[in-house]
Amino acid sequence: MAVFAECPVCHKKQSVRTKLCHCGEDLDKAKRSQKVRFWISYYLPGRKQKRECIGFSIQEARDAEGKRRSQKRENARSGTTRDKTG
Ligand SMILES: [Zn+2]
Repeated sequence: MAVFAECPVCHKKQSVRTKLCHCGEDLDKAKRSQKVRFWISYYLPGRKQKRECIGFSIQEARDAEGKRRSQKRENARSGTTRDKTG
């Protein structure tokens, strides 16, 4: 599970900690002016990777990531019994 920041210029998705994109865009500045789109990526059962666009706020991205994480935990907990009964 990870949060990615999308460069507004070249649309490369990269770590939110990246300050300068390889294309030369100042991501720190772009984040402050809310030009950077945030994505979360996580794995579904069956090793499927899912990416979701959250929006322009890293706080929302973090919230969404936390929500997904607890959902996953709940699924794992109930899934073990539910799967067998149908
Ligand atoms: Zn870029």
